[in-house]
Amino acid sequence: MPESSVDDSAASSQTPVKTTYNLSKPRAAYYPHPGSKIYADKQLYNKIANAPKSLVESHLCQPRSGIAVKIPAKSVFRLTTPEGPQVCDLNIWNLHNPRERFWAARSRQLHSAHVSTFDRLWSNLPYLRPLVTITADTLSARHDEWGGRVHDTLGTRCDPYVDKLISGEDNDFHCHSNLTRAVLPHGLTEFDVHDVLNVFQVTGLNEYDQYFMEACPASKSDYFEMFAEQDLLVAISACPGGDLSQWGWGEDSENLDDSKMLDCCRPLGIEIYKLDDEEDVLKEWKAPEFVNYRGNHGLKGP
Ligand SMILES: [Zn+2]
Repeated sequence: MPESSVDDSAASSQTPVKTTYNLSKPRAAYYPHPGSKIYADKQLYNKIANAPKSLVESHLCQPRSGIAVKIPAKSVFRLTTPEGPQVCDLNIWNLHNPRERFWAARSRQLHSAHVSTFDRLWSNLPYLRPLVTITADTLSARHDEWGGRVHDTLGTRCDPYVDKLISGEDNDFHCHSNLTRAVLPHGLTEFDVHDVLNVFQVTGLNEYDQYFMEACPASKSDYFEMFAEQDLLVAISACPGGDLSQWGWGEDSENLDDSKMLDCCRPLGIEIYKLDDEEDVLKEWKAPEFVNYRGNHGLKGP
């Protein structure tokens, strides 16, 4: 074994060195089968994306804060970065049953670890149906020299607990806390906040298989657009790490007002649109149903 001080300092169990076992290249575990209900009908969602629609609501999420809004089924809604680069932590629930909520891990498996147009954000078990289908993404397919890609399901929200573990400080500015405050008026609590989609956030895995984040590339005109498959409660947090160009773990907590991190924190927007001719555009659309699993996990009745 060669000496490897880099391995030690990387604090990873993984090695950057690959071993050849003469295996054939594995294929993606999940892929479209004919007639698959998993993957979006591109013709239909292109029609939705291009159809005339009217803006019915517009919300601004102030820097380092969170908001939650109700979005009716069959709406199209956009997340925007109206003043430039800013990372957005997104949570989604079925408005009528908050036990049904976004499941990042399954969405990552069914589509890809970073998501874009035509991918869907799926709900957890025992529901497993699309909450939204992505209809437009101005940053789509961005893939940089470090393997960084945009709109991340690998990571999760920043939170005060991991911050305290790392920094020893009680810091209140985190996406988990923003999302918690945002959903309280809707009858939800901290326990309802779940793993997020990190919209506008560039992430990847390095040669040690470790998660990394890069600065947000969004500009004032960028947006990420989704079609609401159900009546939804959608919460977003304008990450207190801002555009992630200056993020840190408590280093500036004593002098937060002087911190460079504040300079890179910007607002986010949510714009909700209604299709002008819903009936015609959605002729081929069906409201998503629960998966019809009829077993009972192998449990037998008395
Ligand atoms: Zn955050």
